[in-house]
Amino acid sequence: MYEHDVIVVGAGGAGLRAAIAAHEEGADVAIVSKLHPVRSHTGAAEGGINAALREADSWEDHAYDTMKGSDYLADAPAAETLCKDSPKETIKLEHWGMAFSRDEDGRVSQRPFGGLSFPRTTYAGAETGHQLLHTMYEQLVKRGIKVYDEWHVTQLAVTNEEKPEDRTCHGIVAYDVQSGKVEGFHARNGVIIATGGLGQAYDHTTNAVSNTGDGVAMAYRAGVPMEDMEFIQFHPTTLPSTGVLISEGVRGEGGILYNEEGERFMFEYGYANNAGELASRDVVSRAELTEVNEGRGIEDEYVHLDMRHLGTERILDRLENILHLAEDFEGVDGLVEPMPVKPGQHYAMGGIETDENGETCITGLYAAGECACASVHGGNRLGGNALPELIVFGKRAGHHAAGKEMDDAKITTGKVGDYEEAEIESPVPLGESGLGGDVAADGGAAAATTGSELVQQFVDEERETIEALLEKDEGIQHAEIRERVQKSMTQNVNVFREEEGLKQALRDIREARELYLDVFVADKSRTFNTDLLQTLETRNILDIAEGITLGALARNEFRGAHWRKEYQERRDEEWLKHTLLSWNDGEPELWYKPVILEGENKTYEPKVRSY
Ligand SMILES: Cc1cc2nc3c(=O)[nH]c(=O)nc-3n(C[C@H](O)[C@H](O)[C@H](O)COP(=O)(O)OP(=O)(O)OC[C@H]3O[C@@H](n4cnc5c(N)ncnc54)[C@H](O)[C@@H]3O)c2cc1C
Repeated sequence: MYEHDVIVVGAGGAGLRAAIAAHEEGADVAIVSKLHPVRSHTGAAEGGINAALREADSWEDHAYDTMKGSDYLADAPAAETLCKDSPKETIKLEHWGMAFSRDEDGRVSQRPFGGLSFPRTTYAGAETGHQLLHTMYEQLVKRGIKVYDEWHVTQLAVTNEEKPEDRTCHGIVAYDVQSGKVEGFHARNGVIIATGGLGQAYDHTTNAVSNTGDGVAMAYRAGVPMEDMEFIQFHPTTLPSTGVLISEGVRGEGGILYNEEGERFMFEYGYANNAGELASRDVVSRAELTEVNEGRGIEDEYVHLDMRHLGTERILDRLENILHLAEDFEGVDGLVEPMPVKPGQHYAMGGIETDENGETCITGLYAAGECACASVHGGNRLGGNALPELIVFGKRAGHHAAGKEMDDAKITTGKVGDYEEAEIESPVPLGESGLGGDVAADGGAAAATTGSELVQQFVDEERETIEALLEKDEGIQHAEIRERVQKSMTQNVNVFREEEGLKQALRDIREARELYLDVFVADKSRTFNTDLLQTLETRNILDIAEGITLGALARNEFRGAHWRKEYQERRDEEWLKHTLLSWNDGEPELWYKPVILEGENKTYEPKVRSY
């Protein structure tokens, strides 16, 4: 058994920042990650980091844009924390040596981004995430922080009190990809989940194959609610054949969208008469799909993004990476022809419910980064607001887990205070109920007297589960199950959603759960067994997909990225509230809590969101 004060699961931007912060507080901290840190998906971020750095800008304007972009579903204390702390955290990256692009006068450059009232997106060419990840990795190495890389975390070791709010997390269980061993990690102070996105619930996504929502699913099954899962961001400019992202930086620099008729449709058809291509992402994605659905798409599938008029020099200076992506993944030379683009799954606004200090309702369990929902993005994330979230909330979670005294959180977690129970209308049974298996084990173990004994109990159980999977000789392979779910999600729980499609997705997920009972792993090897690991990930995808779909079915309004055919209006009188799903002995339970629109100095009154 390994033992540390703080264990961070995940080594992307959020995990690295959390580990550095915990180390700053004097904690013995270790990172456990299924990928080497610099292979984390943060490295794929292209466009930039929003930070109000200039005199003519302010954190208050950034917070206003964020609340408006969220369609008034972000919690103001979290959004304001993000905007207030982002400038100093961004400057800290610069002091650590991050190679930001610069203006002639030497200041860090800033570009316009969708939904921003000021050009406040700092960047490093079109490879901001790569620079950020490497800069923080250097800091990690400098501090000698221990990294267990290529260790796949499969379980959280959590006590089994009836109410999640009474439970404690004492550590994790992980599978060593190199040796095939299952081991326990006892965390004396706390565990921080920083496992990133969940794009693999869809088959057309900008996310890496590793983004399977593991942390969200593990925390959910341990008793932490999943919040606002229905809010999935579909990025308007992904390459049609692969889902590879073409950064919003292209439109930020002046790139233009055209339909098959050569019309600049964002203006021509009045989708966003002021901001045009730089309206927020949900608006542009719907516009593109409407063009395709109304017969003005190219090959009935995509539209064109043209940057040729920016000129070779500017493109090479600021967007060179985009040229390589378009050439390598679509065979298109962006200097001489427009690039084909269509919307693709990109980001999860929802996730593990946390407060603005990164804490969940389970003692000793924290989350930060894309897997977490402190509720900064609400119904729609603004481009350039995820990277600051990693450094701002990663740091806070790290400090808190290491025992630093924090200001009291204004956001509550778990079923406390003012919440509302709700009914789920599903055509099929949900969760693992009725499927057999010891589902309650995910909620915790009972008999242990110490934290490390509890972790050991989970290790023993997990060893048995993995042995059983490897011993089984026939059945269905995970890839078939995963593909069914991904296709159904892309078909039914996409940019445009309607009731029957959502119900169909629930039926498909149920069928996939039943098939999963018969899953088997064909590869029996003990080292680098990706078949086994992906089988474990597929179980997580099932819970994630169900969570997204249930949230989407419950929310009968149109807000942010969540569009419902039957409900074409934002319904503030009923829906200024978050959806939460709790795992109740293997069955999802739906409830709501109100959104907090009161900020430090003002209340963000919901307005019509036009660009
Ligand atoms: C293509 C692309 C471009 C983007 N561009 C921008 C941008 O310009 N600006 C912006 O603000 N946002 C951008 N985003 C969003 C932003 O990059 C991500 O939200 C953010 O980088 C996620 O960081 P993270 O630290 O939460 O997760 P990640 O960087 O994905 O790291 C997750 C870590 O968790 C580990 N992990 C996962 N599961 C397990 C497990 N079971 N066991 C152990 N370890 C595990 C992984 O190994 C990895 O180290 C972009 C996103 C994409 C996909």
